[in-house]
Amino acid sequence: MMNEFLPSKQIVRDVDLIVVGGGSAGMAASIAAAVQGLKVTVFDASGESYDKACGEGLMPPAVAVLAALGVAVSESVPFCGVAYMGQSRERVEALFAANRFGLGVRRRILRQAMWSRARELGVEIIERRVTEMVETKNCVTIEGRVAPWVCISTGSRDGLLKTVGLHDSRPKKDRPSRTGLRRHAKMMPWSNFVEVYWSDYCELYVTPVSSELVNISILSWKPVTFDDALKLFPAVSARCQGVEWDDVVAGVSPLAHLGRARNRGRFFLAGDAAGFLDAMTGEGNSLAILSGVALGHSIASKNPYSYRLKWLKIVWAYWLITSAALMVSRPGWRRKASLKLVMRWPFILRGGLRMLSRMACSSNVHYTLFAILLG
Ligand SMILES: Cc1cc2nc3c(=O)[nH]c(=O)nc-3n(C[C@H](O)[C@H](O)[C@H](O)COP(=O)(O)OP(=O)(O)OC[C@H]3O[C@@H](n4cnc5c(N)ncnc54)[C@H](O)[C@@H]3O)c2cc1C
Repeated sequence: MMNEFLPSKQIVRDVDLIVVGGGSAGMAASIAAAVQGLKVTVFDASGESYDKACGEGLMPPAVAVLAALGVAVSESVPFCGVAYMGQSRERVEALFAANRFGLGVRRRILRQAMWSRARELGVEIIERRVTEMVETKNCVTIEGRVAPWVCISTGSRDGLLKTVGLHDSRPKKDRPSRTGLRRHAKMMPWSNFVEVYWSDYCELYVTPVSSELVNISILSWKPVTFDDALKLFPAVSARCQGVEWDDVVAGVSPLAHLGRARNRGRFFLAGDAAGFLDAMTGEGNSLAILSGVALGHSIASKNPYSYRLKWLKIVWAYWLITSAALMVSRPGWRRKASLKLVMRWPFILRGGLRMLSRMACSSNVHYTLFAILLG
């Protein structure tokens, strides 16, 4: 497909790659491409200190890839697994596979570390919202920069994706109607696990992100305020009595987003922009970083379209497990029954977590299976 588009000597370039969106996916793509000698420009609308709503637990694959990219975060807290808390205070712990650990990192800190590594490698970062992209036969022009390839990593909002026809065109009623909220409490972490508490219609996630800061995130099937949701979890709300909050509540709704494809012409989607189901497995950042790196490598190796298959390899386990988890966690009898089930047979959770912490599997069988399931 590459050849039908562009004999390589006709490619018009000012830079080799333009990245629109400087979150985890976009910065991973730019770092991976720059490490291999490409000239990269990143446009971002929100600036270096943007503190996106997120549970801030980085799963082991993301931790390993960030280290390989040379990204060093200034402050983080390691965690050894995930602990699931039942409604009657039961606790089931699922540890990561041996020698793997997750990291609680505040988004602002992670973002600053990625931006700083990108700048070190010569990536140009322009703090500007992109509203227009002009595509011609051999290149794309964005805000005066010209490149043969564009990575769109603008998160799960449709805005810019519409301009290239890659947005989620499903009516809102056909998407799982989940809302995500987060806030930081100034207190000492009390566990070296990410803790997940369940109520009848929402879950609460506690992630330590520094020696004196804890991230509290809520994912809910119903629209709810942070304070009302917190009351549904007596064990956590008791700890939060009188606590000083570090910020206001930030949120996202709906969480789910599925573009039509991962690529059209010279445009490639990475991170949430390429598709996101839900934050319940804490995989969003890992997928964003891994997909960004895969795109950066594909472009650097002059085989951009190989990215589409790499993307499938990265996301298949997440999509299977998260789809199943969403199905059984809908409010009602299924939610209650599945919670009882995992409390009784913790190996279900442990198996799922180990699978996700290993993430991608290289067998072609898995690509094919996933492609079939996607239809
Ligand atoms: C409540 C909640 C909890 C979560 N918990 C976790 C967790 O614990 N662990 C985990 O791994 N993941 C978690 N996630 C998911 C994770 O936050 C996302 O998957 C991840 O941020 C995706 O990264 P991204 O780079 O694709 O997008 P984003 O991080 O959203 O970055 C998009 C960037 O694009 C920029 N942008 C947007 N439009 C434009 C434009 N037109 N021009 C220029 N720039 C633009 C924005 O400024 C932003 O910087 C959670 C999500 C939510 C909502």
